Amino acid sequence: MTAPYRPEAGSGAAMHALVTELYPICRSITGEGMRTTLRRLQQLVPLELHEVPSGTRVFDWTVPKEWNIRDAWVADADGSRVIDFREHNLHVVNYSVPVRRRMTLAELRPHLHTLPAQPDLIPYRTTYYAEAWGFCLSHRALEALPEGEYEVCIDATLEPGHLTYGELFLPGETPDEILFSCHCCHPSLANDNLAGMAVAVWLARRLSAAPRRHGMRFLFIPGAIGSITWLARNAEAVGRIRHGLVLSCLGDPGHSTYKRTRRGDALVDRAAAHILRQGGEHELLDFVPYGYDERQYCSPGFNLAVGCLTRTPNGRFPEYHTSADNVEFVRSDALEDSLAKALAIVEVLEHDAAFVNLNPHCEPQLGRRGLYGNTGGISPPGFEMALLWVLNYSDGDHTLLDIAVRAEMPFPLIRRAAEALRGAGLLAPAPGTEAATEGGAPRRPAASAPRSGAPPLVSGANS
Ligand code: ZN
Repeated sequence: MTAPYRPEAGSGAAMHALVTELYPICRSITGEGMRTTLRRLQQLVPLELHEVPSGTRVFDWTVPKEWNIRDAWVADADGSRVIDFREHNLHVVNYSVPVRRRMTLAELRPHLHTLPAQPDLIPYRTTYYAEAWGFCLSHRALEALPEGEYEVCIDATLEPGHLTYGELFLPGETPDEILFSCHCCHPSLANDNLAGMAVAVWLARRLSAAPRRHGMRFLFIPGAIGSITWLARNAEAVGRIRHGLVLSCLGDPGHSTYKRTRRGDALVDRAAAHILRQGGEHELLDFVPYGYDERQYCSPGFNLAVGCLTRTPNGRFPEYHTSADNVEFVRSDALEDSLAKALAIVEVLEHDAAFVNLNPHCEPQLGRRGLYGNTGGISPPGFEMALLWVLNYSDGDHTLLDIAVRAEMPFPLIRRAAEALRGAGLLAPAPGTEAATEGGAPRRPAASAPRSGAPPLVSGANS
């Protein structure tokens, strides 16, 4: 029963191989690097690619010009490259305007970015919304540059084109949707970018094979401008999103972290908290209006129930936004553990429901129904305890997640107990919940809808 919600064997290694394959591509918020990346993902899941023209207004923003880069370098008087884009794409400030000129080191210096506190690492810098140019290099390399004249070249174009994003929708039995969103705009950065993409792809592959009550919508987008663009173009779909997760930084060796939605008490918040608590060391953070695309999904005009699942959060690991966020930093076991947690959260979102005990006056005799061992005097094992918890708290008000949290038991065990009790005729969907569909579960609209329902969109107010 729980198989679709467990990673397949070998998923971690397969995700790591994808991270390794995509790592060298120079991505940005627009351009061929993003397209090449998304086309590779299309070989794994049937992503639809969308192209939005530069200049398109999206709420308070404008889709930027498209950036493409062929080569970049700084060469010394002998013509040998002292900074070379071909060696590492972080060497160029992402979105740099083209440049070709000779200049002294003193003139060049304001365009050079280093990390004096981490002198061996190349920083990651961008200039998306200001037309500028620059290079990034290790502080040690900068200190080794002799005075003199240098030739500087950034062979790039910044011209009207398109913003590209990928979207995959797996329809469900109801119109309700779960949103998964990951950013794909960073160049050679493995944990902050590629790990989230790999987990999203494997999540989509796993869920595509399972019966689904919710439609599952996956977005592979450039950070910030991508979610702003999608939200501006998809008012109808936005209204169907009941729960969501931003997926990022899911491959580092740190423990799992969940950042709550702006609402703070949405079903996805309670589901993620329970799954992470069950999984050992973890951290739960309240919403702050900074971070990844949850900033947009949780902006007050939408206030969607979208949280953010990471391992060590952005900015809190020393490798963050440097050349040390590489394929060695990302681990197969961490990727697989992150996938397992995302799937476990989805299991709760798909199957949480309230039931009523049809035999509420004292305990029903479970042994007679083949549900309970007959040896007295020993504490009942997990499954039998789960039966007792489900029977006692199935008063139509407590959902299976409420019971799992209260009993400190895994949700799949509580769910399995509820299935067994339904099979024995001892449990029924709570009155007023939707009829159970095959493979699905009844819901408790009165209690769960206000917690997880999306607010109405003010249509046309901003677009
Ligand atoms: Zn980042």
